[in-house]
Amino acid sequence: MIFKLGHSINQQVSVPDNKGAELFIKREDEIHPFVSGNKYRKLKYNLLEAKKKGFKTLLTFGGAFSNHIAAVASAGNLLGFKTIGVIRGNELEDKISDNETLSFAKQNGMQFKFVSRADYRDKTSKAFLAKLKEEFNDFYLIPEGGTNILAIKGCEEILTEADNVFDYICCAVGTGGTISGLINCSKPSQQVLGFPALKGDFLRQDISKFVAKTNWDLITDYHFGGYAKINEELVTFINQFKKTNAIPLDPVYTGKMMFGVFDLINKDYFKKDSKILAIHTGGLQGIKGMNSVLKNKNLSIIE
Ligand SMILES: *Cc1c(COP(=O)(O)O)cnc(C)c1O
Repeated sequence: MIFKLGHSINQQVSVPDNKGAELFIKREDEIHPFVSGNKYRKLKYNLLEAKKKGFKTLLTFGGAFSNHIAAVASAGNLLGFKTIGVIRGNELEDKISDNETLSFAKQNGMQFKFVSRADYRDKTSKAFLAKLKEEFNDFYLIPEGGTNILAIKGCEEILTEADNVFDYICCAVGTGGTISGLINCSKPSQQVLGFPALKGDFLRQDISKFVAKTNWDLITDYHFGGYAKINEELVTFINQFKKTNAIPLDPVYTGKMMFGVFDLINKDYFKKDSKILAIHTGGLQGIKGMNSVLKNKNLSIIE
C-alpha cells in the first residue's frame, strides 16, 4: 500500500470464567507504530484521493489527546503532505511541549491552529470553513475523527474471509465510522456490537446513515462517565489484561470496550459457545497523555 504496514492478526484472549465463549482480538494496533488501528483504515482512501486530486495539504480537527491528530501528522509526514491541525482549546497554545500528542504531531511537521471551544463547536459551518480557506488556501479536509464515506470504505477492509467463523464482532465507537465499515462487511449470521466511548444518543442515527443492515447494536453501559473519563477500576482492568495476555489496551476506547466484553461474558449475554472477535482499534499513543493526568492526581497509572 501507500506505506509499509505490519500485520493485523487475531490473537486469542483468555477469558476469566469458563463460560464456553472463545474470545479473539484483532491486532489492528500492529498495522503501524504511529498510524495505528482504525486511524490507518480511515485515512487510506482519503490519502489516495488527496494525492489523486493533487492536494499538497491536509487539514483536520481534534482535541489535545486525539489519536486522529497523531495519525494524520504521521501519515502526512510519511507521504509528503503538509498538515494542519485545528485544535480544540486555545489555552493549549503555549503548552504544546507538555502534551505528548501535540508534541508528536509537531515533530511530524503539523502546523496548529488553536481555537476556542465555542469556535471548535462551529467548525463545520460554512463561515468557519471559509475563514480556514482564506488562512490556509487549498487543503484536503478530513473531518474530526476522520469519518466520511472513504473512511468507511477503508474500515470495510478490517474483516477478512477467515473472520466469517465469528458470531460476534465487537468494537469501540467514537464517531461511528469504524463500526459502520464493520457492519457493511459483516455476514448476516454475525452480530456487530459497538461500545461507545462517550455518552450521547446521536450515534445510532449517525451509524444508520452509513449502513443498510440491521445486524448491529450499541452497548451503552461502558463509557465510564463520558469521553476520556476513566476510573481506578478501568485502570486496574487494563493493567491486569496486559499482564495476562501481553496486549496493551488504551484507556479511551479499547480498554472500555474490552471491559464491556468481559462483563457481558460474565453476565452470559452471548449465546452459548460463541466465538467473539474484538477489534483492537489502536490508540496506544494516548496512554502517555492519560498517565500524565493520572500522575498529577496521584492516581495509579497504566503500566
Ligand atoms: C478513533 C478511535 C475509535 C473510534 O472510531 P470511530 O470510527 O470514530 O467510531 C476507536 N478506537 C480507537 C483506538 C480510536 O483511536
